[in-house]
Amino acid sequence: MERCLVIGSGCAGLTAGIYAARSGLDPLIISGLLPGGQLTMTTEVENFPGFPSPVQGQQLMDAMRKQGERLGVRFVNDLAEEVNFKKHPFSVRLAGGSEIAAQAVIVATGAAARWLGLGSEQRLRGKGVSACATCDGFFFKGKDVLVIGGGDTALEEACFLTKFASSVAVVHRRGKFRATSALVEKAGQNKKIRFIFDCVAEEVLGRETVEGVRLKNVASGAVQSVKCEGLFVAIGHEPATSFLKGQLALDEQGYILVKPAGFVVTDTPGVFAAGDCADHRYRQAVTASAFGSMAAIEAGKWLENKGFV
Ligand code: NAP
Repeated sequence: MERCLVIGSGCAGLTAGIYAARSGLDPLIISGLLPGGQLTMTTEVENFPGFPSPVQGQQLMDAMRKQGERLGVRFVNDLAEEVNFKKHPFSVRLAGGSEIAAQAVIVATGAAARWLGLGSEQRLRGKGVSACATCDGFFFKGKDVLVIGGGDTALEEACFLTKFASSVAVVHRRGKFRATSALVEKAGQNKKIRFIFDCVAEEVLGRETVEGVRLKNVASGAVQSVKCEGLFVAIGHEPATSFLKGQLALDEQGYILVKPAGFVVTDTPGVFAAGDCADHRYRQAVTASAFGSMAAIEAGKWLENKGFV
């Protein structure tokens, strides 16, 4: 029987683990599919407090994990596949087949990349279509690539890709970027980057590998084909909560609903949520960490009130 089980090992899960360990809750973290979470797929992080110079995402997450281990956090490298939050103690079944019983659970499963939903996009995934410039940018040395999206991720990935690609076209469906002005400025100053506004992708062209993308202008209806060998889709993320359906209240996009006054308190007493799986507003490493600390504090109070600690 676990006292405090944390599902997920990104910023939210690791911070929850660190706080729970320091409160004597002896937490166990289920690491999930992507140990370290989304930051392991990014390059430089320059807005996490405490680092005067940019820190690599992977490096930051490795440090957080080591900090947790030093404080006694235990890890199981598996994936939570099914939960039963309808009876207490709660139970979580792992992909590896084992089942864990727990008195309190903190869900910190994060979110995963969203795709455009084109058949050609899925057919060419791994053959030029990617959702992670950090992972795949290296393969596009000296090539022309296209990035779809208008948020921070799209522009950050575009800047990163210029280290390898000879040109990067950023395609956005509106005429104004959602990304922060600092990133828009940085990308705008990069001679390898050009912007294509008011356009959506209709089809990824190419039989075996990506050869281009057919774009449609949403204002004029005009269609153009842009040649490229790589397509990076950077249009946001989906919360990793499908295994929680029917067990926790979720909103229509799948984000875990938390109480406005509690921030990390779900509709099930004893189950808490932290980070991007419950937050579509801030989605920052530092806010995910903050929610993780709050979830651990709330879990500790709940366990104490119930007489479990
Ligand atoms: P996001 O902010 O949700 O932006 C998604 C972008 O994709 C939007 O521009 C959106 O267009 C576009 N889009 C969505 N669906 C689309 C579709 N089907 N076809 C074409 N375009 C589509 O997602 P994000 O950029 O991944 O950022 C997520 C969060 O992480 C944000 O809060 C961001 O600030 C943060 N972040 C921060 C940093 C940093 O601080 N260094 C880096 C990366 C991400 P519309 O604008 O028209 O909706």
